[in-house]
Amino acid sequence: MRIILLGAPGAGKGTVAKLLTKLDGSVQISTGDILRGAVKAGTPLGKKAQRYIDRGDLVPDSVIIGIMEKRLHDLDIRKGFLLDGFPRTIPQAEALDALLKKRNIILDLVANLDVPRAVILDRLTTRRTCSNPACQEIYNVKSNPPAPDGSCRKCGCPVTQRADETVDAITKRYNIYNEKTAPLINYYEKKGILLTIQDTSTEGVAKAIQKGIMVKSRQDRSQTP
Ligand code: AMP
Repeated sequence: MRIILLGAPGAGKGTVAKLLTKLDGSVQISTGDILRGAVKAGTPLGKKAQRYIDRGDLVPDSVIIGIMEKRLHDLDIRKGFLLDGFPRTIPQAEALDALLKKRNIILDLVANLDVPRAVILDRLTTRRTCSNPACQEIYNVKSNPPAPDGSCRKCGCPVTQRADETVDAITKRYNIYNEKTAPLINYYEKKGILLTIQDTSTEGVAKAIQKGIMVKSRQDRSQTP
């Protein structure tokens, strides 16, 4: 599948992406994970990105578009891809259109995960992430806690709360989402590839996406002369 996962921080994009990649071998491309990996590794990109990430601000479009331009050249995307956290602004969406057009890649759909604000706030303040950049397993202190000593049950590294998941940073990221990212809903609706999903369970969202892709491919086939 070739899809974009759209939704506020905490809407569940990463968790749904991980489930879908297991089902069909598509790769998850998360700009947030790429940036956090660069911060941990202390690369020039990481040094540049860190202050934006910690403040809950968006990293400049030119930096993100550069990352994606490179990432979309990797061979693994032939199996399909799920874009998680990109695009986040209209200029990023326009740049993505151009990148995909150049490579003759057509998106299956854009899934808009529409989750109430209260659910998002609760999810993000209770979320914990494995600090190992190669793992980044996600936990929840209420529903899916890490090991009793606070380590990751997958790789054993410490599980921590992200600096951008304090109440202040989350509120800021949510406001930025409404201002900069929410306009993409209309952008993709106009293109006729938007599927809005209000289910809050990971399995429910994954099923809705799979069904949406099936319906679209049937429609595409019936329109082919
Ligand atoms: P995420 O894990 O997707 O919530 O991303 C964490 C942080 O990384 C965001 O709050 C931004 O600071 C930065 N970031 C990730 N993706 C993008 C993007 N597409 N555009 C700008 N900043 C981004």
